[in-house]
Amino acid sequence: MGTKSREVIWGSQIRGAKMSAEKARQRATEAVREADRAEAHAWSVRMEGYGGPAQPSPTIEQCLNGGLGWLEVECNRCKSRASLPLNAIRRPRDTPIWKLEAALKCRSCRKGRYAPPVHMIKLTARQEMSLWNAALRPARSKFNFLRP
Ligand SMILES: [Zn+2]
Repeated sequence: MGTKSREVIWGSQIRGAKMSAEKARQRATEAVREADRAEAHAWSVRMEGYGGPAQPSPTIEQCLNGGLGWLEVECNRCKSRASLPLNAIRRPRDTPIWKLEAALKCRSCRKGRYAPPVHMIKLTARQEMSLWNAALRPARSKFNFLRP
């Protein structure tokens, strides 16, 4: 059997099978996105409504994938709030977001080596508070403060 007749017999079946594989993969990607969004949202509601517990939490990647890419935080002392863009955080994407809390410091409340803790409020799809800025950020370069 020549290449040509083989193409006639099998070609369309192969193309069809490839197409359904592709479609199934798209549906799977969508399902993961939906699950990530639901999980990030559930965590956010728990944080906002009950103030925690922060653990377990979704990862940076899950929040981003689910479309909730902003973390709102509040300084425990001066109560100033800021929105932190999760896609700018220099941490592995599989880092659970509760692990970020300990690394966040309010710059205006800092005294020497001591800085009062900052706590996480919720996740949002857009920036709702002022950007995590100089007031809340140590002098070192952008977002490096997130490295312990
Ligand atoms: Zn403060």
